Order: sequence, then structure tokens, then C-alpha cells
Amino acid sequence: MDLTPFAEAYRETNRRIVQLLDFLSALQGLSEVSPIVTDRRGMLDQALKGLLENQNMSRCSVFLCERDELVNAAGLSWADLIGLPGQVARRAFPVGNGVMGRAVATGMVQYASDCRHDPDFLSLPAEASPEISSLISVPIRSGDGVLGVLNVSHTESEAFGPDEERLLTLYAHFLGQMLLNWQHVHRLEEQVGQRTRELEEALEEARELQQRFQTLAVLDDLTGLHNRRFFFAEARAIVARALRQGVGISVILLDLDHFKQFNDQFGHAAGDRVLRDVAMAMGQLVREGDVLSRFGGEEFVLLLPGTDLDGAIGLGKRIRQALAGLEWMFDGSEPQRITASIGICALVLEGPRQDPSPGDVLEGMLSRADLTMYTSKDAGRDCLRVSTLELLDNH
Ligand code: GH3
Ligand code: MG
Ligand code: MG
Repeated sequence: MDLTPFAEAYRETNRRIVQLLDFLSALQGLSEVSPIVTDRRGMLDQALKGLLENQNMSRCSVFLCERDELVNAAGLSWADLIGLPGQVARRAFPVGNGVMGRAVATGMVQYASDCRHDPDFLSLPAEASPEISSLISVPIRSGDGVLGVLNVSHTESEAFGPDEERLLTLYAHFLGQMLLNWQHVHRLEEQVGQRTRELEEALEEARELQQRFQTLAVLDDLTGLHNRRFFFAEARAIVARALRQGVGISVILLDLDHFKQFNDQFGHAAGDRVLRDVAMAMGQLVREGDVLSRFGGEEFVLLLPGTDLDGAIGLGKRIRQALAGLEWMFDGSEPQRITASIGICALVLEGPRQDPSPGDVLEGMLSRADLTMYTSKDAGRDCLRVSTLELLDNH
């Protein structure tokens, strides 16, 4: 009995079983590829490597649909496996062209068993593509659509058969699922990233707004100087430091003379301009650390840390000089000038003090400066009067 047919059948069955087992290994490799990786090319390389190692082929690649083109997303050959996978140059074909295009258009696996005789086969320049004689292009589907194609090629013609077509169709199905998962994960990541960026921007805006409101809450709208609220907070801290260190400080109160009359004669806007100019002139005379504020209406206050009575008198005089140098003309009026009445109170200390409280000391200084300022008014205005608040150790 001639056993040759049985032996051949046995060999064929054996070959197919081995091929099936190899294919299952390739599929198992695919199931181990994580869609969490950020790099799609790396993920596809890993998938193609499993296929190349377990199937008889020269090269495999994935082209994905991008608008009306099929663009290479990954490609591996045996040469790449031996060395390092090189940077794949971008290659694109119009959808509908070539064997790949046929796969996308029909949604069916395409097999060019001898590419030289396939009218659709588009050969690339020799350096771009190794010799290809057999080519299987399998559509990678997702639901109703086609994501791209999986290409498997061989340098020999007639290298593949219906088994490869079936197995690669199955492989492309799982590849499609993997790509879809990758897209979901990364779209989600992108959305989360986008939301995070939006939130950060909103937070930054809120921070800026908060800062703006905080600034506005301590600044006087008209003159841009600090307001009364800021003055009291800052001044209390300065007085507390002065008491702790036993260093004198001074306060200057300044009230413009006959300002009501000025307003009545030239209008409120003219008065506003004067207030702004006076504020600016005073601002140019103060040192860092001095607190200059608009105390109200046409009244200004200056707290001078580390400045004794003489120092305060010196500054008071310079302010009077600066005001004397200012003049305004309103609607063709004669040049107009303004004067101010100034009251100074200097805190005199012999050394550090635990009591009284900084709030009380500040209040005492301000009320003396105010009284002194009124003595200037009583003396005919346009002058400077001084007083002291003495905290001596034996009192
Ligand atoms: P005195 O020399 O006694 O201080 O007289 P005065 O007119 O300056 O004082 P009075 O307290 O009678 O009037 C203050 C004036 O300051 C009245 C008010 O219209 C004016 N004034 C207060 N705040 C502003 C402001 O923001 N802009 C303008 N243009 N005028 C203001
Ligand atoms: Mg006043
Ligand atoms: Mg006044």
C-alpha cells in the first residue's frame, strides 16, 4: 500500500497545526500589548513584532486612514528586528489607490499573490521598499468603519494562501480593537489634560482677580495712594515695631486750605486734578517704608518710621515747598495755587516699651497731629505746627 498520500496529508496537517500555534502565539503577544502607552508607534511596533516573529513573511506594516489618505503608522521587516527599528519616513497613499486602497474600499482582505502582475500594486522606489512579490492587505475595522490596513508581504510570489488570509483577518480584528482602545484611552487623557489646562487658566484668572480686588480695596481711586483702611493696618504694625525697638516715629497730617472754595470756583473736576497732583508731589518726597495715604477728602496722612521731630519738620517743609511750586489754570483762569495746613506729631521714646498698646499710641499720635493741624488753621493756614507724644520711662 502506498502511504505517500497519508504521509503528505500528515505533513500538511502538521504544517497547519504549527502555523496555527504560531498564530496563536502572535495573538497572545497582541493581547499583552498595553493601550496605556502614550506612543502609538511603539504600541504598533510591539504588535507587528509578535506577528513577524511567528509568521512566515518578510515585512509587515500598518497604514491608518487620515482624512483621504492612508499614512504609514508602523512597519517592521526582519532587518529591523536584527538591528534597531529605524525612523519610518512618512509615506501616504490616497485612499482608493493600490492594493491597500482596495482593501479599504471593499472592506475585504486583498491578496496580490504576484505583485508584478497586479495592476493595482504601487511599487515604491527601491530604497523605500524592499522587493515585494506577495502582499496581503487586510482592512483594520472598527465597528462600521475602517481604521486602516494591515499589510503583510513576502519577497517570494505565491507565498501566502487562504489560511494566511483568514488568520490575518482575525489578527487585524484584534489590532483594530487595540487601536480603538488606545484612541479611547488617549482621547480621555487629552480631555482630562484639556480640562486640567482650562481649570488652571480659570484658577490663574481668579487669582489675578483676587489680587486686583485686594489692591483696589487698599488703594484710593482718585489719587492711587493707599487709603485709610490700608493706613491703619500698616500704621499699627509700624507703631508696634517702634515700641518694641524703642525707636521714634512721626506722623504728618496735611489738609488743603479753602478747598471747598476752590471746588466752588473751578468745579469738582478741577478739584480732583489738584488732589491728584498734590498726591503725586507728596509721593515723590517720601522714602521707602513711609506710609502715605489719602486720609479722606482733601486730607493726607504720612507715617514716618524711624523719623524724629526734626526729620518730620524737614519733610513737612519740603512738602510745603513742593505745593508752592504747583499751579493750575482752569478755563483761561489766572494761574491758581493751593496751600495746606500741616500738623506734625512725633513719638518720643527713651527705649523699648511693652505698653501702651500700639493701637492706643497710634490714636494718640493722630489726634495730636489733628489738633496741631487745627492750630495751623487757626494761625491763618499755609503753615506747619508741631507736637510730640512722649512716652518716657518715669511716667
Ligand atoms: P479748610 O481750609 O478749613 O480746610 O477749608 P476747606 O474748604 O478745605 O475745608 P472743608 O472741610 O470745608 O471742605 C473740604 C472740601 O473738600 C469740600 C469738598 O467738596 C472737597 N472735597 C473732598 N473730597 C473731594 C474730592 O474727592 N474731590 C474734590 N474735587 N473735592 C473734594
Ligand atoms: Mg478737611
Ligand atoms: Mg481743608
